[in-house]
Amino acid sequence: MQRTMQCNICQGHGAVRTPTGALWQKCPICEGAGQVTPEPAKEPVWYPLQLVVPLNASLTSVIMIQNEDFDLEFLLATYTNAALLITILEGGKPWTKTPQLNTNQGTVPISLVTGNGQYPFPIYPAYRIRAKEQITITATDQSGAQNTLNFAMFGKVLKGTATERTPGT
Ligand SMILES: [Zn+2]
Repeated sequence: MQRTMQCNICQGHGAVRTPTGALWQKCPICEGAGQVTPEPAKEPVWYPLQLVVPLNASLTSVIMIQNEDFDLEFLLATYTNAALLITILEGGKPWTKTPQLNTNQGTVPISLVTGNGQYPFPIYPAYRIRAKEQITITATDQSGAQNTLNFAMFGKVLKGTATERTPGT
């Protein structure tokens, strides 16, 4: 059930005058419907996470999406050494936004998932993550030395989309 409101370009008529004023044409904003669906306001937001992974070990942490839906636009990361595998779960399920080189573990090299801080990996079109969802990130060092991962998701929070949904539904 989407809320609609009257199109303020055609005043709900569904048609506007052509540039010369001589003829009528279908309203290009509402495509003739006379009604439009308001888009929620968007505000930039970062979801950062740091994992200091001990040598040849795995470390897991969770990013909790706040109380409003989140449109993911960029993945970024810096890391001490690129010999770092990463697994991302959304609500406990494998994340379809990352490649799955190892179908048993779902782990892929960090550079295939996030790019780096200088060249972030764009998600286009933006990928919507629902309010209160849990993004679980596991990093596994393969470099043989302590490996510091600074991971971030950047995007827009959709104001006014607070919901009562429970995570994973
Ligand atoms: Zn219109």
